[in-house]
Amino acid sequence: MILRVKGVSKSFGSQQVLEPITFEVGEGERICILGPSGCGKSTLLQMVAGLQRIDSGEVEMAGVTVERGRHYVPPENRPINMVFQDYALWPHMTVKQNMEYGMKRRKLDTKDRADKLERLQSLLKLEGLLDRLPAQLSGGQQQRVGIARALATEPKLLLMDEPLSNLDVKLRTDMRGELARLLGELSIASLYVTHDRMEAFTVADRILILRDGRIDQFGEPRVLFERPASPWVAQLMGYHN
Ligand code: ADP
Ligand code: MG
Repeated sequence: MILRVKGVSKSFGSQQVLEPITFEVGEGERICILGPSGCGKSTLLQMVAGLQRIDSGEVEMAGVTVERGRHYVPPENRPINMVFQDYALWPHMTVKQNMEYGMKRRKLDTKDRADKLERLQSLLKLEGLLDRLPAQLSGGQQQRVGIARALATEPKLLLMDEPLSNLDVKLRTDMRGELARLLGELSIASLYVTHDRMEAFTVADRILILRDGRIDQFGEPRVLFERPASPWVAQLMGYHN
């Protein structure tokens, strides 16, 4: 298992956003967290990242407890990286510098960095763009850089919060297929937050359905589709009655 989330809950003031949540992610597994706006998807992802503290329970990564009670490993020391909806590239750094930033922090040596840069620029179709600043790129290109930058640090688990939702429909459809292929090829496990059913179907080996801070169902897309555990899941799967 690359990730174990055990009885993790979260409240903001008197509002309980997540009830105690338990699930596991295997090596290389592509997981989508699917649910409507406000159901707690981003909060769950941020707790896995260590960007939000957990109220209860435990988070374990690759066999190591990264949070339990007072014990807390900060995001930069977890075997993860994150891709954000708004790209969050360094505006003053070129594409190449953005990609190298994390690799330098992880102390990859120069030869490894060059090889990796080469591989990622072709995987993510960034040829000819390395010396540009983010402002000189389209939205789709910026998001590719965001993904390349995250992959450059060799995370065991890639966290993505609605990474394609700022792109137009055509690009979104193209990129979700590419992203699924890429994650499969690199066999990096991922937690991918989306409110878009088709995106979840394309990207996920298993889909975790979150509703009002609870897991409604967690399984392969085909199983959710053929045997929805509740009318709510059935509706999400596109059944109309
Ligand atoms: P989603 O990503 O599924 O849209 P979020 O995890 O962002 O949902 O939010 C779930 C609920 O928690 C929402 O009601 C939101 O307003 C609330 N919430 C999220 N972050 C905070 C915060 N930092 N402080 C207070 N309330 C928050
Ligand atoms: Mg969100």
